Amino acid sequence: MDCIFCKIIAGEIPSTKVYEDETCLAFRDIHPQAPVHILLIPKQHIPSLREITPENAPIAAHLLAVIPQIAQAEGLDNGFRVISNVGEDAAQTVKHLHFHILGGKKMGEQMA
Ligand code: AMP
Ligand code: ZN
Repeated sequence: MDCIFCKIIAGEIPSTKVYEDETCLAFRDIHPQAPVHILLIPKQHIPSLREITPENAPIAAHLLAVIPQIAQAEGLDNGFRVISNVGEDAAQTVKHLHFHILGGKKMGEQMA
């Protein structure tokens, strides 16, 4: 499958890893939009949040449970923002579910 995040999981494309377990991987975004900009992805190829079902929801729940651990390890004690782009209107460019974890600066109130 021609998916860059699956290739990162397979080690075929290098990444700056910040967290890994048997279910998920987190690494630094190659084009950071904040001082801390991390991508958290499931190791299973799920195209986006749109494909979350009762069957695979435990994977999504696991990702959510890992987010505060990553935020704490990155020192984001003053807050952070989590974004997951889904589909065309949200300008999703990589069709493998990912959460952007953004922090390290005071962000604007506007989200879109
Ligand atoms: P999205 O627009 O939500 O699909 O976000 C995809 C993100 O993946 C963008 O912020 C890109 O900068 C990031 N990205 C693309 N390729 C890589 C890569 N090889 N390593 C790290 N981040 C990447
Ligand atoms: Zn993938």
